[in-house]
Amino acid sequence: MTVVSGSLPSAAPATGYRGRLAPSPTGYLHLGHLRTFWIAAQRAKRHQGELLLRCDDLDRARCRESYITGFLDDLAWLQIEWTPPMIRQSERIPLYWAALERLHAGGYIFPCQRSRRDVLAALGAPHEGPGGDDDEPVYPVSFRPAPGAGTPALENVSGQNWRFRVPDGEPLTFHDGGQGTQTAIAGRDFGDFLVWRKDGLPSYQLASVVDDALLAITEVVRGADLVRSTFRQLLLFRALRWNAPAFFHCPLVRDEQGVRLAKRHDALSIRALRAAGTTPEKLFTSFAQEVGSQS
Ligand code: GLU
Repeated sequence: MTVVSGSLPSAAPATGYRGRLAPSPTGYLHLGHLRTFWIAAQRAKRHQGELLLRCDDLDRARCRESYITGFLDDLAWLQIEWTPPMIRQSERIPLYWAALERLHAGGYIFPCQRSRRDVLAALGAPHEGPGGDDDEPVYPVSFRPAPGAGTPALENVSGQNWRFRVPDGEPLTFHDGGQGTQTAIAGRDFGDFLVWRKDGLPSYQLASVVDDALLAITEVVRGADLVRSTFRQLLLFRALRWNAPAFFHCPLVRDEQGVRLAKRHDALSIRALRAAGTTPEKLFTSFAQEVGSQS
């Protein structure tokens, strides 16, 4: 049971366990991904369930086939088993569009011409923070269309971003299997968020929700950097009237300076560790110790 807040969707009925691994082929996997995938695999095994592999390859400019080959190779080396075929988001655009149409029909979304830079300027933060926080900044309410302005047809405003209007001030809560109870206030901790991009592609939030629902995922295991996204996604599950899966967010791996690992930490990529002679057994043992010491 994931969601404890009254009005958010409840977790999918426990009819067998199905998890997923969802790498983005925008770089080589690093230790952080690996630990998350290892935890996902352990949980699937413990529940005698299965793991799907979803390739988050929507961002055409940043995705490369060599990174797909890279993660397939790393998963095989780690003996992390998944159920084929691999699911590619780039081949599922019509499913995401159908969900967008439902959100549109329900009055949940609006077109938006503001750039990320406009949003940051309105917040008095014209530059991104040095930490490179890749989360969406809170969209100013003043940028919303005037009340009563009506929502144009989707087809009339292709080539524009579309955003989901969050229920301002609504307290949201869900129970996280890894991190305990999580709370946020819509409109304060996150604002109206992107569901469709002007380049004709769904946002990560929408694509992930559609896939988790249609692929009947029962538990999402991923990094704790996505907890805030989970609140957004729970709002999408609710608007689309789909059950939400359970969630388990894994602690992030940081480097010696305390900086969260990102793909640019090449030294800690699985390939580099392999080249340096690390074995999967050594890695798994260290994960098991870390996870054990946290619980
Ligand atoms: N592709 C996403 C990432 O690498 C994962 C998204 C998810 O697990 O929902 O951050």
